[in-house]
Amino acid sequence: MPVPVQPVVSDDTLPAAVDVVVIGAGIAGSAAAYYLAEKGHSVALIDKGYVGGEQTSRNWGWCRQQHRDLRELPLAMKSLEMWGDLNRELDAETGFRRTGLLYVTTRPADFAQWEAWTLAARQHQMHSRILSSAEAKAMTPGSTRNWLGGVHSPGDGRAEPALAGPAFAEAARAHGATIHQNCAARGLDIATGKVAGVITERGRIRAQRVLCAGGAWTSLFCRRHGVALPQAGVRSTSFYTRAAPQITDGGLSMPEVTIRRRLDGGYTVGLGGRGLVELSPQGLLYARQFWPTLKKRWRGVTLGIGRSFFDGPESFARWSFDRVSPFERCRTLDPAADPRLVQEGLKKLAEHYPVLKGLEVEHSWGGLIDSTPDGIPVISAVDPLPGLFLSTGFTGHGFGIGPAAGRLAADIVAGDPPIVDPLPFRYSRMIDGTDLGAPGMM
Ligand SMILES: Cc1cc2nc3c(=O)[nH]c(=O)nc-3n(C[C@H](O)[C@H](O)[C@H](O)COP(=O)(O)OP(=O)(O)OC[C@H]3O[C@@H](n4cnc5c(N)ncnc54)[C@H](O)[C@@H]3O)c2cc1C
Repeated sequence: MPVPVQPVVSDDTLPAAVDVVVIGAGIAGSAAAYYLAEKGHSVALIDKGYVGGEQTSRNWGWCRQQHRDLRELPLAMKSLEMWGDLNRELDAETGFRRTGLLYVTTRPADFAQWEAWTLAARQHQMHSRILSSAEAKAMTPGSTRNWLGGVHSPGDGRAEPALAGPAFAEAARAHGATIHQNCAARGLDIATGKVAGVITERGRIRAQRVLCAGGAWTSLFCRRHGVALPQAGVRSTSFYTRAAPQITDGGLSMPEVTIRRRLDGGYTVGLGGRGLVELSPQGLLYARQFWPTLKKRWRGVTLGIGRSFFDGPESFARWSFDRVSPFERCRTLDPAADPRLVQEGLKKLAEHYPVLKGLEVEHSWGGLIDSTPDGIPVISAVDPLPGLFLSTGFTGHGFGIGPAAGRLAADIVAGDPPIVDPLPFRYSRMIDGTDLGAPGMM
């Protein structure tokens, strides 16, 4: 079931020409559209479904620097700085609160990894606090467990996924961008080897620069133009509860279950490491690139086969620009929640916290996490096709870095000095394999 989001009204008329077309109105595209419009560029933000309809509204709402891949940490730190001022800047409620995030564990391997990460992150001036067993216990009053230890990151926080994406889109419009929902990009208009615009289901928009922020659909879109992009989707189940006793004001990660306090007093609940990877033609195409990641994480991943094999974002669909495209056949990617996982989440929560026994589930949903082989996004120009830029592959952590990722994408598209070193996010690593190791912590 789609997660209810703050609705955004579309603009009536598709512009004939703009400086930049942004494809995809998740947080990556909406934030980029906002920063581009704020810089004074004319922007059309288009989505085949609606603003925030896919991953952006389905995520857990953790905004963290903690446990970031170190290549991505400067971007995460910038983002957490930006979140603090966003409600004022966007003139909207994003739900962001700097509550801190808390991780506790009974597993020696987790704790060792957290200690190593915390030490390494100090080089970047990121200071979180490793907790002894007694300190972890003191920070989780009401819990039945004796923890081996934990880590607390006071500079991190939580926001509301249903609000933040639409807030960026509306703020982009306040700076002159136009928003077009139910408006799929069928492909790029290419002239003399360069991008000249976008062919949408409602007509053509001329633009010399196009940013594709299509989430799980980006690889399929790029493949239509001979641009290779290794990308794989992992399905997961989440749910939120009605208002419940407060055991944390922020996010709390425990073995097997993770919760985040919501503005409405309920919890968004997720089960860590319980993804489903659907076998797909695209998955087979990029199996070699993803093999190291799969080997590292295969214990938490189930393999399956589903609709995606034939018609989803990872199919080998073909289409011409004057016919209905795969993007219109699936306006909103809405995988079903697994009810067994919902029950398991409730059970684990009640085991950890008796006060949370009998929680009522308000809403459950599935989400498809788009991943890259090395677990960090591509935010970059695509050199083989001048005029095409990508912001995609956020690998399950693009919400928290959404603001800075949007700003970085806007800087790159505009040709301005980038807010952080963009090298780790370059597209070329997807092709030449440089640095394409298995992901660090996620
Ligand atoms: C269950 C779950 C939990 C998560 N938890 C967290 C978390 O706690 N913290 C965190 O930081 N991240 C989290 N994430 C990850 C985060 O949600 C994503 O990384 C982020 O939302 C990606 O944003 P996006 O804009 O790239 O993609 P999306 O939100 O998926 O947006 C892509 C958009 O592109 C549109 N589109 C695609 N193709 C076309 C086309 N051809 N034409 C027009 N439109 C098109 C789609 O309709 C869609 O709206 C989680 C993700 C999931 C699924």
